[in-house]
Amino acid sequence: GAARTPFIAGNWKMNLDHLQAVAFVQKLQWTLKDAKHEDGSVEVGIFPPFTDIRTVQTLIDADKIPFSLGGQDLSTKDSGAYTGEVSGQFLAKLDCRYVIIGHSERREYHQESDEIVAAKVQAALRYGLVPVICVGETADDLEEFGASAVPVGQLRVALEGVPADADIVVAYEPVWAIGSGKAATPDQAQDVCAKLRAVVGESLGADAAARTRVLYGGSVKSANIASFMREPDVDGALVGGASLVVDEFAAIIRFQK
Ligand code: PEP
Repeated sequence: GAARTPFIAGNWKMNLDHLQAVAFVQKLQWTLKDAKHEDGSVEVGIFPPFTDIRTVQTLIDADKIPFSLGGQDLSTKDSGAYTGEVSGQFLAKLDCRYVIIGHSERREYHQESDEIVAAKVQAALRYGLVPVICVGETADDLEEFGASAVPVGQLRVALEGVPADADIVVAYEPVWAIGSGKAATPDQAQDVCAKLRAVVGESLGADAAARTRVLYGGSVKSANIASFMREPDVDGALVGGASLVVDEFAAIIRFQK
């Protein structure tokens, strides 16, 4: 979509300790020195492990390239006796603008239900964080229900109680495409992203639908990013594996339609 700034988001998952993060981010900053995103035409987001966020924040502060920073998860709670949890207020204090919510790995390995995802969206909004709401169907879902039914249902629940003027990002990530090397086709991505945009419209209204960025994620790499970005309802990408390789991630950021 022309009015929406493309968003390329790198989800490091549980990779790169804070020392490795220094080397990685400095190399990325060097590689992108003259990149077009400096003019604001592409927003780049980095989602490191919690233990790296302070370090990465310092590197971003010290450089002229305006990366956005985000967490990979947050607690539904604000503070208190919740050992091991991280509050949205702590992320906000570290200049995080975003937080990934409901990634398929959280849903699968940490039993995150649609209701927990919805509570995390509310927690993010309480602290002014932009939730990057991840939805997507498994291979079994795809066979049984087609591509869009499960992600559409997940997004409806996640948006319950979200105000019409809220800033959100939606990421369509078919589970079968994540880390598999087998990306969805641009047609498939466009079809589901358009349906997810329609859900944003039903839940939050037409303005929100026009404004909200819907990303595709699942085996995005430099060789296929342009084909996704050509689609009218795909506003960017959530990138896992390829976000850990400086030259690949830089090439994705520099995509040409
Ligand atoms: C992800 O996990 O968000 C993802 C899209 O991973 P990959 O790019 O490695 O498929």
